[in-house]
Amino acid sequence: MTAKIIDGKQIAAELRQELKQKVAALKERGIVPGLGVILVGDDPASHSYVTAKERACAEIGLHSDDNRLPVDVSQPELMALIERMNADPKIHGILMQLPLPSQINEAEVLTKIAVDKDVDGFHPISVGRMVIGQKAFLPCTPHGVVQMLLRSGVTLEGAEVVIVGRSNIVGKPLANILMQKSAMGNATVTVCHTRTKNIAQHTLRADIVIAAAGRPNTITAEMVKPGAVVIDVGVNRIPDDTKKSGYRLVGDVDFDAVSQKAAMITPVPGGVGPMTITMLLYNTVESAAALCPA
Ligand code: NAP
Repeated sequence: MTAKIIDGKQIAAELRQELKQKVAALKERGIVPGLGVILVGDDPASHSYVTAKERACAEIGLHSDDNRLPVDVSQPELMALIERMNADPKIHGILMQLPLPSQINEAEVLTKIAVDKDVDGFHPISVGRMVIGQKAFLPCTPHGVVQMLLRSGVTLEGAEVVIVGRSNIVGKPLANILMQKSAMGNATVTVCHTRTKNIAQHTLRADIVIAAAGRPNTITAEMVKPGAVVIDVGVNRIPDDTKKSGYRLVGDVDFDAVSQKAAMITPVPGGVGPMTITMLLYNTVESAAALCPA
């Protein structure tokens, strides 16, 4: 069996086209959805993520308010900026790019963001609402994974899903969304991590395997049931002398071998990555519509 590739770029492009139409409809009512972006420090990866997010905003007609702060910014300065954004009617979503430098209390900062502008879905109230099945902004990567599955025609209801990874930004929220009594859920979910005794024993009975461990080759062909759907969230840099950069990106799944056994699989890059940014745009447009009702 050679797996069908789930093309994250294409699904993201379709979703962005739908969002463009929603943005155009909001603009007719004089509303331009706005994303307030805060980036602290000089980390090159964070800068390139933020630039990609702002470019994506511009592509679908969103306004972005770019705030790049020095690495030695103080807690009160950061809190004051968030307070200003919370009160700014032109800003409907606030993106605090993580990680933050060590002098900053990350939990305090994330809790300061107004819940109705929490488009990353990391505020404890957003997380609580998600867990109890109330309307909330869903974290972008897990939401992107679920949208990819649904838009690829994968049945979630009754499916055995095994997630490898239990972080607060990927594994835990993904497990929560997929177990909800909703059209995005109704799956039976198992979550594995570094203390799981025998990961293969779980993944081998999964209809859907989702790898979010941040380790290359966490999922090998021997660990996957024939005909399973395999989603690779992992992004790992491995040395590669043939590349100008000296490295290439791989996921957590042994793509070549697993794609001979699975029914569907996501590539890295070009799988989950493009969906993450798209769901940030999605939440910002939803927020603008909710904050400015017709
Ligand atoms: P994280 O915070 O480091 O969490 C990794 C999780 O995987 C932990 O729960 C850890 O278990 C588990 N784990 C690690 N190695 C394992 C192994 N060998 N077997 C079983 N479990 C293992 O990472 P994260 O932030 O969730 O990110 C995971 C990966 O997704 C990373 O590669 C990251 O770059 C990528 N990512 C991609 C996107 C995207 O848009 N494509 C977005 C976010 C993250 P313990 O809890 O026991 O330590």
